[in-house]
Order: sequence, then C-alpha cells, then structure tokens
Amino acid sequence: MNHKIAVFPGSFDPFTKGHLAIVLKALNLFDGIIIAIGDNSSKTNLFSLTDRLKQISSVFQNEPKVTITSFTGLTVDFCRKNKANFIVRGLRDNKDFEYEKSIAIMNNQVEGSIETVFLMTDVKYLAINSVIIRDILKNGGNVSKFLPNEINDLIAGA
Ligand code: ADP
Repeated sequence: MNHKIAVFPGSFDPFTKGHLAIVLKALNLFDGIIIAIGDNSSKTNLFSLTDRLKQISSVFQNEPKVTITSFTGLTVDFCRKNKANFIVRGLRDNKDFEYEKSIAIMNNQVEGSIETVFLMTDVKYLAINSVIIRDILKNGGNVSKFLPNEINDLIAGA
C-alpha cells in the first residue's frame, strides 16, 4: 500500500491557529503528518524546543495520524529518513510564495522524490504571524485568540 506521509516543518514559535488549520487540511490529504520543529541554533526563540514540543503535542494528543518531533539539518534529509515524500507549507500571501518557491524547487532538485505541497490559509488566519505574536507576548499583551486552546492553557500555567 502507498502510505502517504507529509512533513510540516517550521519554527512554530509559537504554533498558532493558522498552523493548526494547515495541519487539519493536510490530514484530509495524507495518511500521516509529521510536524517537525527545525532546531535552528542561529535563531533566537521565545519558547524553548522542549516547550514547543509539549505545546504542539498537547494540541494533537487525540490525533494518532499526527506525530511531533524536532530535527536539525536539511528538511529533505529528515524526509528521507522518515519515508516522507511530501513537505507541507502554508501560504498567506505572495511574500510567503516568493520565499517558498525557490526552496521548494531546490529541495526537489536535491531529492526528486519529494514534492512540496502548498496549502492556502483560511482568510480568518491570514494575518496570524508568529513574529508579531512573539512581539505581543514579549510586551505582555494577550495573544490567546490566535493560539489553540491547549497552548493557551499551557502558557497560562507556566
Ligand atoms: P518558518 O520559520 O519555517 O517560516 P513558521 O513557524 O513561521 O516557520 O511557519 C511554518 C509554516 O506555516 C510556513 O509554511 C508558514 O508559511 C506557515 N504559516 C505560518 N503562519 C500561517 C498562517 N497564519 N496561516 C497559514 N500558514 C501559516
């Protein structure tokens, strides 16, 4: 049987309702989704890798088709190791597309068996952006309407 596995890579700092909507759409297309947090030491994160793993796991605790992990190195190498032939990325606007298209083409040149699948955001999540959410959080603002409930609970309890 052809088991279709997709990797959804990202920083997810933090994982938002926009990310969640992309995973839910991808679940209709693939047999399994691996949410893979890129452990990029050159980026300064608001939430530690451990916290992000815990936060995202709490959202999908009842969804056996979703696994959550972290990775270092090239996304295509991670896909190969996990027998995933698809990379999922979310698009909000042409800025996302411009950024993503070269990466998708390069990845496919490096590993011809891996296709990137772009899913459009829902209009209600168009403006949700982790960078802005981090700014609001750093300045003590309330971002709860942009985050899944399970993550709000974890942040409130921290
Ligand atoms: P990265 O640092 O790799 O851009 P992000 O955590 O910012 O990681 O995003 C991961 C993926 O989710 C990217 O494909 C990004 O375009 C997508 N994404 C981010 N926010 C939204 C949103 N509000 N709606 C749909 N897709 C989104």
